[in-house]
Amino acid sequence: MPETEKFNPVPFLSALCLALTGCEPAGNPADPPSETPAGASSGYAVESPTTAAASNAAGDAPVTALVGGILIDGTGAAPLADAVVLIDGSEIASVGARGEVALPEGTRVVEIGGKWLVPGLIDAHVHFMESGRIYTKPGQIDLTHLVPYDEEVAWMQQRVPVTLKSYLCAGVTGAVSVGGPRFEYEVREQARARHDAPDVYVAHGPVTLVPAATLFPPFDGDVSVRSVTDPGSAAETIRQGAQWEADLVKTGYLGGPFADQEKDYAAMHEAIVAESAVHGFKVTTHVTELEPARTLVELGVDSLQHLPLDASLDAAFLELAKSSGVVVVPTLAVWRRNFVDVYDRSFDLLPIEEQCGDPQVIASWHEVGELPAPPPEVMEMYGGVMAVAAGNTKRLLDAGVPLAAGSDTGNLGLLHGPSLHYELKLLGEAGVPPAELIVAATLHAAMVAGQADRVGSIEPGKQADLLVIEADPLADIGNLQAIGQVIKSGVVFDPATFLPPAE
Ligand SMILES: [Zn+2]
Repeated sequence: MPETEKFNPVPFLSALCLALTGCEPAGNPADPPSETPAGASSGYAVESPTTAAASNAAGDAPVTALVGGILIDGTGAAPLADAVVLIDGSEIASVGARGEVALPEGTRVVEIGGKWLVPGLIDAHVHFMESGRIYTKPGQIDLTHLVPYDEEVAWMQQRVPVTLKSYLCAGVTGAVSVGGPRFEYEVREQARARHDAPDVYVAHGPVTLVPAATLFPPFDGDVSVRSVTDPGSAAETIRQGAQWEADLVKTGYLGGPFADQEKDYAAMHEAIVAESAVHGFKVTTHVTELEPARTLVELGVDSLQHLPLDASLDAAFLELAKSSGVVVVPTLAVWRRNFVDVYDRSFDLLPIEEQCGDPQVIASWHEVGELPAPPPEVMEMYGGVMAVAAGNTKRLLDAGVPLAAGSDTGNLGLLHGPSLHYELKLLGEAGVPPAELIVAATLHAAMVAGQADRVGSIEPGKQADLLVIEADPLADIGNLQAIGQVIKSGVVFDPATFLPPAE
């Protein structure tokens, strides 16, 4: 039986989640990179990364060269052995093979022979307005009699520093918030004010036909979606996003069971795409059904969040997607963790999730007794969702459609920061090879945010966000968890710097 005929997941899924509104690393803790004595084979004088970090943090913007590693630059290019990456202040100054890159006098040389260099990872789908705790989504599991929603909101607000550090702990130097209340912007402000935080990009929205009250209670007095009623109000909302200095635009579920079916979501998207172009915003769109996805790609949205779950992608769609340049963010992790693991408490956390995940979030999953689990047939359906989602992911890959990695973290059962690695694991199981996974979690994710000219690859002129990896991530994507150093905006850190508090 074709997987598409197994079920119709849309109403229940939409009701629960998608809604819309939508370290130590694993493996061996890093040995410090070797320090080649000055005048040894590299021909470069060597200094330790700690010194480089301290100096960078002190603001004297030294030039640092990472020398001898195997470079995986995030563009999909073949790895470059014995590479040199020259970092000047917060920027990558030059990249090349040993001997090809001239080092200015006084350059600090860090030997990383036998290690791998990849761009800092970027999560293309997160929600700071959701903590991942069992109390965070009363529309899905209502535990407000135990923890009132306002208390959960207050918990998230005071927890921001820990939340942000968890990203860097896991090597995630960028996160795309796909919209929500003003809080998403506040988190971006806090991240900008800290050196131990990822870059946060905020999508204005989600712009949706669904009334805000349908989905979430008020968040500190603000709505969690930007509800619109017609093309005019949709365009007005985009202008509001420009005033708030949004980074991109997210549209929510403009069709679907909650929406007024009489409304013309295509006309509204047309207005959104046009007004977004005026302000230079990329448009990313939540969609879980094939026919709306087809329409949205035709209308020119830049990326899709999730992917159709009601049908196998057909050749016409794949061709359209490929020729349009749309990026697809499959978000496989949320199906598994949010819809299966939360209910049967079967979390199988990756080592990096154990290490970098917020222990208070993990503890919350076991704090309550019986949950109002969906009926068995619904649980069974989730297995079907995974199969369709994985199959469609592979179809997109084979058709040459760019994929980006997004965890949908903030949803129940997912951890800000390290759960991006779980998404990579599931994408790998769906058939995406490690080389493409690295691009999905770097350059393609940067494309979703409209930041591909600034971040997402190891190329001259880009922000110096890089990871030194201790084991070959091309042999096994799980090795991406073996993070030796995190370099954020040119500053070198031991990832243990970012470990969360013990409880
Ligand atoms: Zn989401």
